[in-house]
Amino acid sequence: MQEILPLSARIDGGRLSVGGIDAEALAAEHGTPLLVYCEETIRAQARAYAKAAPGALVVYGTKAFANVAVLRVLAEEGVGADVSTLGELAFAQAAGIAGQRILFHGNNKSDEELRAAAETGATVVLDAADEPERAAAQGVRQVLVRLTPGVDAHTHQSIRTAHDESKFGLPPERALAVIADARERGLDVAGVHFHVGSQLARVDESVLAVQRLLAFCERAEDELGWRPRTLDIGGGLGIRYTRDEHVPEIDAFVEPLVAALPGDVQVILEPGRSLVGRAGVTLYRVGVVKDSGGVTYVAIDGGMSDNPRPQLYGARYEALLANRAAELPDGIFRVAGKHCESGDVLIQAAELPHPRRGDLLAVPATGAYTLAMGSTYNGVPRPAVVLVRDGAARLIRSREAVDDLLRYEEG
Ligand SMILES: *Cc1c(COP(=O)(O)O)cnc(C)c1O
Repeated sequence: MQEILPLSARIDGGRLSVGGIDAEALAAEHGTPLLVYCEETIRAQARAYAKAAPGALVVYGTKAFANVAVLRVLAEEGVGADVSTLGELAFAQAAGIAGQRILFHGNNKSDEELRAAAETGATVVLDAADEPERAAAQGVRQVLVRLTPGVDAHTHQSIRTAHDESKFGLPPERALAVIADARERGLDVAGVHFHVGSQLARVDESVLAVQRLLAFCERAEDELGWRPRTLDIGGGLGIRYTRDEHVPEIDAFVEPLVAALPGDVQVILEPGRSLVGRAGVTLYRVGVVKDSGGVTYVAIDGGMSDNPRPQLYGARYEALLANRAAELPDGIFRVAGKHCESGDVLIQAAELPHPRRGDLLAVPATGAYTLAMGSTYNGVPRPAVVLVRDGAARLIRSREAVDDLLRYEEG
């Protein structure tokens, strides 16, 4: 299990610890469900990007988990922020990230968002024919243009973004028109952007996208006499969710892409999942354990409200019992959440020692697109989040209370 747990995770005397702290002690102090982030893993991933692409600007895909403390840790490693809403921009600003290190994306930016991006000095990634005019009107100065390279990535259809029918980006013909229009309006068109998709498990799709990007740039030079000084090749590298799953290491993914780019351009990378995914482990308390038609259900005190990825993407996870980590699995169990939906199943078939009420279930690789996509479905407040390192745990997001849910009720 070590290979999908955070770097600082240890199993010692049958107990799981992360960042030098016993998982049971974290659960006792902060309650469950609890999302635990390992600072060492986040920093190691950021450093792997810096090493694989020296001189590149790395911006964190904030949507993977928008959190001020995590953004600050990344900023200390030189990482900026990729944002797509006023809310994400506010998180990046609260973390002290300067506008020069912020990219503002979105397929439907409001005037308010364009103005806020302009005031911050962020680079806006143009994504529609009417955006040069709207961006210029709101005071935006520097822009990139998002190209749809027409690459169909082998990933879940909800997270493919560079195919011809994508709602994101502009096909080459229209991207050229947007570059021309933006320049006429006095915008500084720094370069071109693409993002192939998410949870990518191979590099060849991205290599193809880079080739299309370079062909596009040649066309732009021929037809517009314009050359990019910045090329942004997006994010998308996947992580391992289960031991039988394999994805490239950061260097194996990034190096061939960067090597294919001209040496004289500023390269931008936008990883989200691969920076924070492995760093997160979710701890749940086991409640009811029951047999039903040949299946043994293990019910936990969270579920699709803190991690909807199984429902959205058919995501698969593995788990371990943090308090009985040395015991060998003796069966296959279905880990279900507490929500009123039969589909609220976190793990269809988890190999575990027979769980009992009160056990602490740990689910690795839950740092990206989990709580970030969470809800308060069934009136369940969202869990707390801690950041652990060298035997110290810091609360980086408070547990919501039922009173927080009632705060917005009227009448
Ligand atoms: C989501 C997104 C990212 C980050 O993607 P990951 O798969 O988490 O690395 C980067 N850039 C853009 C434009 C995105 O939409």
